Amino acid sequence: MSETQFGFETKAIRTQLERSQYQEHSVPLYLTSSFLFEDAEDMRASFAEEKEKNIYSRFSNPNTNEFIDKICQMEGAEAGYAFATGMAAVYSTFAALLNSGDHIVSASSVFGSTHTLFTKYFPKWNIETSYFNINEPETIENFIQPNTKILYAESPTNPAVDILDLKYLGKIAKKHSLLLIIDNCFATPYLQNPIQFGADLVIHSATKLIDGQGRVLGGITVGREDLIREIYLFSRNTGPSLSPFNAWVLSKSLETLAVRVEKHCENALKVARFLESHTNVELVKYPFLKSHPQHEIAKKQMRLGGNIVAFEIKGGIEAGRKFIDKIKLCSLSANLGDTRTIVTHPASTTHSKLTEDERLAVSITDGLVRVSVGLETVQDIIDDLKQALE
Ligand SMILES: *Cc1c(COP(=O)(O)O)cnc(C)c1O
Repeated sequence: MSETQFGFETKAIRTQLERSQYQEHSVPLYLTSSFLFEDAEDMRASFAEEKEKNIYSRFSNPNTNEFIDKICQMEGAEAGYAFATGMAAVYSTFAALLNSGDHIVSASSVFGSTHTLFTKYFPKWNIETSYFNINEPETIENFIQPNTKILYAESPTNPAVDILDLKYLGKIAKKHSLLLIIDNCFATPYLQNPIQFGADLVIHSATKLIDGQGRVLGGITVGREDLIREIYLFSRNTGPSLSPFNAWVLSKSLETLAVRVEKHCENALKVARFLESHTNVELVKYPFLKSHPQHEIAKKQMRLGGNIVAFEIKGGIEAGRKFIDKIKLCSLSANLGDTRTIVTHPASTTHSKLTEDERLAVSITDGLVRVSVGLETVQDIIDDLKQALE
């Protein structure tokens, strides 16, 4: 049986390094900055890339290689490169592939730091970005220019859990010869594989559900081999590489990704159903609730609904802040995708610098609360939300 025929969980558990002379069952940690050469010829051939060999851990390392191999298997990707953070992956991917004068078409609702990259830093190098409204995907083609090179989106989006039709994005990208890049962080490789729908590259912040236990930062880009080659060459010279230790932690995390994400999604659906039945809640957004505006699309491209539930509390900003103050069990924290349930109120925190109109353009209403549902006993999560709502 070839590796690609194995199921998702088997790939996550059995894709690993060859064992050393000690025949260890668990993969050891290779904390080394560089690797030895046999002789002058070995050194020459290694640098000439005539053989696959680790030279220096900024280029590659056995632990990062294992992490990359696993994600490639899970996403159905040809190749990948691992980064110190999700943002290092986003930045390096764009910086490696774009030239001055190029143009990006992006979904309006993307991760905050990604938005800052597009609006504040890329214009310094004459790279401009146009945004299509995530609620009007039929307008995407209006934003495409002769110099557009990349179509970029996240699905589900942060924090409002909107869904974009990946197959549709894939079609548009193909028609206009654009690279389709998807940040698949909220879905994880277990729930959704964008390459299947035409994505050329997939980016993950491994900090979130991939680690899943709030310990380490990490990021990765996987996809077409020719593009990854460019990203690799850029990165081995600029140095955003993932540390071997974090790669080791993340490779271990991947072995339990499927069971963790299953349970996250089961808890999240129960939390979403509870919220939907509560009188102080105006609206609940969860991709696998029938009431979600893009429920049908979500069901076509995702295995389950994910762990993020967004809801609108009655009473706007003040009610949102009061709710947060009454939370006892859940954490108030900036992370997501942890075993611990995390509650945030975007309008008074992460998105407080935007005007109300800007917030509404990305579906952030004043009373929007985002819950990253964790793995605690689900009734305890529900009880905490319930007492805070009353
Ligand atoms: C967190 C996050 C990132 C950035 O990842 P870091 O590891 O924090 O740098 C990028 N995209 C999305 C969707 C995220 O949630």
